[in-house]
Amino acid sequence: MTQFTLTCPRCAAELSLTTRRLLVRIDAGTATSGEVLFTCLNCRRSEAVTIDVATAARLVTAGVTYLSLSEPDVDHPEPQPPGPRLTHDDLLDLHAALAGDTWHDELTGLAAETQ
Ligand SMILES: [Zn+2]
Repeated sequence: MTQFTLTCPRCAAELSLTTRRLLVRIDAGTATSGEVLFTCLNCRRSEAVTIDVATAARLVTAGVTYLSLSEPDVDHPEPQPPGPRLTHDDLLDLHAALAGDTWHDELTGLAAETQ
């Protein structure tokens, strides 16, 4: 049975693991790198080591199970408020306004106008 030698990134133990004890994760889309995941026989922790595409190909060819995963596409958890996005210029304007002494009067005057 084919074995691969790895070094645990956590405890630095040199491990000789069979293909059954390894899992390769390949970046879908780019497929230029990936990780090999395994459980260390010394410290008993699950670890992942970044591998290049040639190493990933060698492992998969030897029979290691692989997953091809893309970056997660996460939806924004809150609905986006209406109106234009806040820009860096808006922040600079806010900073300049807050640095002065009149921002509170301007704000309360604005509130009085809208009532
Ligand atoms: Zn370890």
